[in-house]
Amino acid sequence: MDSINPFISGEQIAVRLQEMGKRITADYQGRDLLIVGVLKGTFMVMADLARQIKLPTQFDYMAVSSYGAATKTSGVVRVLKDLEQEIAGRHVLICEDIVDSGLTLNYLMKSLRVRGPASLEIAALLFKEGIQRVPVDVKYVGFRIGPEFVVGYGLDYDGKYRNLPYVGILSQS
Ligand code: 5GP
Repeated sequence: MDSINPFISGEQIAVRLQEMGKRITADYQGRDLLIVGVLKGTFMVMADLARQIKLPTQFDYMAVSSYGAATKTSGVVRVLKDLEQEIAGRHVLICEDIVDSGLTLNYLMKSLRVRGPASLEIAALLFKEGIQRVPVDVKYVGFRIGPEFVVGYGLDYDGKYRNLPYVGILSQS
């Protein structure tokens, strides 16, 4: 049976996303922003972060393969859905739920950079400290966490728990 231990509360997340939104608003003053969400996990972070960003903002989405039913990264990144919009000359902010090995974002950064955006940065709610297998520069980080497998606030295990309004640590017996 799965059990979930509350780890980061909905209130803590709300406060942090507000701070991140303020910083992003200040950093991009006078510019239009294109927020790119990496599906599926980012839907909740993206909706809540975007409401804290006071700028003319557009949205697009990419979908990439992640873990499936397992809790260890495969190292294989597969694009399931590409962007619908051109990003050349635009200020692009990738919005992610969590950075683990960094393989997904490293791949995405490389493939988006060649399309010539004016700028390309990353915002992620969670960053697993010190376990990246490739370098990834995340400008806006919500919380730095350990290697534990977390669920909730958009993050799933086997397709479940995405709708939890907090982040919890999954343990299985
Ligand atoms: P990375 O490529 O950085 O290893 O992992 C990126 C993706 O793996 C995330 O977008 C997420 O879908 C999945 N992932 C990594 N760590 C976790 C975790 O602790 N919990 C869940 N639910 N997904 C994770």
